[in-house]
Amino acid sequence: MRPNILFVAAEAAPLAKTGGLGDVVSALAEALHNDGIHVTVLMPGYASALDNAVKLRPCGRLAGLPGGDSSLWIGHMPNSDVEVILLRNDALYRRPGSPYLDADGNEFADNGLRFAALSHAAALIASGATEIEVPHVVHAHDWHAGLVPMLMREYGAEAKSIFTIHNLAFQGNYPLASAAEFGIPEHVQQDASIEYWGQLSFMKAALNYADRITTVSNTYAREILTPKFGSGFDGLLRERERDLVAVPNGIDTITWDPVIDTMIARNYDHEDLRGKQACKRDLQKTFGLPFDQFAPVMAMGSRLTTQKMADVAIEAIPALLASHPRLQIAILGCGDRDIENGLRALTASHPDRIGLHIGYDEARAHCLHAGADMLLHGSRFEPFGLTPIYSMRYGTVPIASRVGGLADTVVDAGSIGQTVTNATGFLFDGETAQDMITGVDRALAMFAQPQLWRTLQREDMTAEVGWEKSSQLYINLYRTLIAEPAQAMFQPVSRERISRPAVEQVSMKRA
Ligand code: ADP
Repeated sequence: MRPNILFVAAEAAPLAKTGGLGDVVSALAEALHNDGIHVTVLMPGYASALDNAVKLRPCGRLAGLPGGDSSLWIGHMPNSDVEVILLRNDALYRRPGSPYLDADGNEFADNGLRFAALSHAAALIASGATEIEVPHVVHAHDWHAGLVPMLMREYGAEAKSIFTIHNLAFQGNYPLASAAEFGIPEHVQQDASIEYWGQLSFMKAALNYADRITTVSNTYAREILTPKFGSGFDGLLRERERDLVAVPNGIDTITWDPVIDTMIARNYDHEDLRGKQACKRDLQKTFGLPFDQFAPVMAMGSRLTTQKMADVAIEAIPALLASHPRLQIAILGCGDRDIENGLRALTASHPDRIGLHIGYDEARAHCLHAGADMLLHGSRFEPFGLTPIYSMRYGTVPIASRVGGLADTVVDAGSIGQTVTNATGFLFDGETAQDMITGVDRALAMFAQPQLWRTLQREDMTAEVGWEKSSQLYINLYRTLIAEPAQAMFQPVSRERISRPAVEQVSMKRA
């Protein structure tokens, strides 16, 4: 039997992406498809998705959905055979800005409603209320799809549910008073299964009702059981530990490959890094840094937030520039306004040493990973951490915090005289500027030893980072779940079922 899996997510690159979630949803779907799984991605019909999905055609209408009447459009992802279904409601999803923010960078006030509607659509598909083939498993990703497992039970779906935590810190907490508007049944509103400190929490709903919970690295799976990393949900997660599975992410090894990348100045491979010199020159030019072939160039490329320790980097950079007179720093990112402004000020006072681009720019991200010598990636917590792995593929050595997925994927190189075989980068503990400086100092000392550095680069560029292993882990999980009898594996406090909300399905036959 060929498992039929419905992914539900707010992002899937290249139709919509603001961070790692968008990369992972698409790359995993592609890997599963290549392994013979029927996988379809359900996501909102943002303008970018409607414009770029291939061969879209209508396949159903959902009247009476929270947020208004909506339609379903099916097609496939660009350059891929993976099916995508877009939930179309232009008033909800077709807006200027990113998937979550308006053009001024403010969160849309109705994000709760927008993603509640997505969750209802998924649960309706899973319960056979549409003409779309009923999936065996609905795989919901992050809080945006957090209501799916609970709604599946309410709609009487027999499909199993998996919820993957890509980042526990983003929880989708809204006033309880919004519950009716979100189409949450009365009896669920009255019990404690979705209530979190006086609010309604999409994340809590997911953790309570999903048949299985997965997260994206082994270390993060352990960390979230502790108060420090559990974001308030460590207790609930400990209760569900039996159903919590770690499946480490992989990366899309075609998009991120210096051998074939069309977005970089010159291609290269692990045996011949001459092309990387051309990429370094291009990076220095693109980021307005003086051309210096021998200067160590350190990249930073991520959301500019406290999670990513961008605030700590602002403190650490002046000392690093003072103690390493040739060091250049290239920064790409966007995020908290205060951090963006802090970096602008720092750049203004060191114009020949720091190149800054505030904004989201895919091509520049490739230029950064290819051209830099090392990547600084601090994190107070990190579920997986794709960026350091992208940089590794390009022989750009990561300097990262020893947390979450970073602790699993970066093998610390030690220091001169005590180097570690098979090392791939540098890890530092702690959250202070001095902790970060110590990590960068070790990396710069090793950069000055070209042979040692070259060994690190070769390890980085040949590390196994694809989806092959993890795709199999998910497939095993799907098969196990499908074989299990249909029963509520974990009974939260909700008591009785309600009748199916009045949602009308208008048939539009698939071509
Ligand atoms: P997170 O998902 O926490 O943001 P990850 O490192 O796992 O962190 O994934 C971030 C993804 O977003 C990577 O694909 C990275 O290249 C991309 N990214 C982040 N900021 C930018 C930016 N300003 N421009 C281009 N790509 C970015």
